[in-house]
Amino acid sequence: MVLQRIVRAVIMGPPGSGKGTVSGRIVKTFGLKHISSGDILRANINARTELGLLMKACIDQGQLVPDDVMSRLILSDLRAVDQSSWLLDGFPRTIYQAEALDDAYSVDTVINLNVPFEIIKQRLTSRWIHLPSGRVYNIDFNPPKVSGFDDATGEPLVQRADDTPETVTRRLKAYKTQTEPVLEYYRSKGVLETFSGTETNKIWPHVETFLSRKLTSVNQKVA
Ligand code: AMP
Repeated sequence: MVLQRIVRAVIMGPPGSGKGTVSGRIVKTFGLKHISSGDILRANINARTELGLLMKACIDQGQLVPDDVMSRLILSDLRAVDQSSWLLDGFPRTIYQAEALDDAYSVDTVINLNVPFEIIKQRLTSRWIHLPSGRVYNIDFNPPKVSGFDDATGEPLVQRADDTPETVTRRLKAYKTQTEPVLEYYRSKGVLETFSGTETNKIWPHVETFLSRKLTSVNQKVA
């Protein structure tokens, strides 16, 4: 699909809800640029930047990075892709961040993946990722072709330090208290679309159909 107008989308959902996988499919199908706050932070940690080292403790403990740091980081990345359509993944995670984003850009649509917490706990502990690309695998339902290696590059996969059971519990708690209010914020603005389910492959066709319609209507409005 060729987009005529800039489309600004956000994807939300608890950690392990399939956000990374669905984002990858959205980006591939609709040609939006993918901006993932978690990937940006992990790239900073990997490159041992000052910011990355400072933030590592927060992330490893399953706590959110301070709002002002996160907002500045993401908004400066968004400015760099100002003339493109984008999909924000992992940001905003608090009302403060949602308001900071709102001050700079108006969001056309928010995709909310609603997956039960029990499913998520089991999923996160069997998750493997390819760090440079952010590609996500799951040994139970989306394994790589060769165990332990990325399908596209053949490079090794790693497990995230924050995918331990205790940290997962803490991350889910942070989601409930700090991020769920953001869903309400977007619901009241009339841009929230929720997709419920337990399997990414079953949720995805609904997201795809919704976005096809949504992006067509956004483009028709300006035509
Ligand atoms: P994710 O890969 O999106 O689950 O992010 C991994 C970790 O990075 C989170 O558990 C937080 O510690 C941190 N993080 C990512 N995005 C944000 C954000 N928008 N605000 C605060 N912390 C964040």
